[in-house]
Amino acid sequence: MTANNDETVPARLGPAEVRELAAHLGVNPTKKLGQNFVHDPNTVRKIVRLAGVKAGDHVIEIGPGLGSLTLGLTEAQARVTAIEIDERLAQQLPLTQHMMQPEAQLRVVLTDALELTNEQLIADDRPTVLVANLPYNVSVPILMHLLELIPELQRGLVMVQAEVGYRIAANPGSKEYGAPSVKAAWYGDWSIAGTVSRKIFWPVPGVDSVLVRYERRSEQLGTETERRHTFSLVNAAFAGRRKMIRQSLQAAIPGSSTESVTQLVESVGLRPDHRAESLAIGDYLKIARALV
Ligand code: SAM
Repeated sequence: MTANNDETVPARLGPAEVRELAAHLGVNPTKKLGQNFVHDPNTVRKIVRLAGVKAGDHVIEIGPGLGSLTLGLTEAQARVTAIEIDERLAQQLPLTQHMMQPEAQLRVVLTDALELTNEQLIADDRPTVLVANLPYNVSVPILMHLLELIPELQRGLVMVQAEVGYRIAANPGSKEYGAPSVKAAWYGDWSIAGTVSRKIFWPVPGVDSVLVRYERRSEQLGTETERRHTFSLVNAAFAGRRKMIRQSLQAAIPGSSTESVTQLVESVGLRPDHRAESLAIGDYLKIARALV
């Protein structure tokens, strides 16, 4: 791979560079780590555009891999904190970046994103935008962990498995609506921003992908304690999703009975014979508040 000395030529990773870098590192992409690398500069450009990344934004990227998306973000003059679990990729990324975009502001943290802590972020320079091509098998837990850990995140755009994306962005009553939809809605609004061809990845995955956009709520729905109570009700409701909530919610309310849950749910103006998928995040919060 050659250095980018010509400022008019954008530095991006295409199919040849992606394979060359992987061969150089001895990386055989693994399913376990969801390693499907983007080798299409147009898709990278589209993601950066749809994410609304501006010069000076501090972006957190999960799983930068060989750096296809990272280079697109730094090319847009964002500052990037990249969290990568694979040591070879984490060590190579600053070298690739330096060679192709020497001015870029990039900080790579070698860790499992699921275990990312506040200590690994810089206290007075926290990221406000999330952009990532997430590893598919852990995309929802990673999203939930980040949203909880980094309340400063104002917006984001993530690429995920289509089925997961539709689930995250689903509304109450739809067949995709599940616990991830309700929990995601706690933090803000989610929508599908676009679809992505399988061909833009190497290796080509066996599933389709979509881009999901996130906009943080202008006002937080409730306190951290209320969030935890609400999420435990959501977990119980969807664990028994075929049951009516007067039954399913008992699992989250110690010492409760069908009668007491019926009374509780009616006291906040909801119907005890509804099922998990009929309730919006605000409904679960109402029940949680009535419990304390
Ligand atoms: N962003 C790159 C791209 O678009 O080409 C790579 C995306 S690939 C789908 C997912 C990346 O996430 C891989 O680099 C993989 O090593 C990394 N990864 C997998 N599990 C991770 C985890 N738990 N924490 C951080 N990174 C992880």
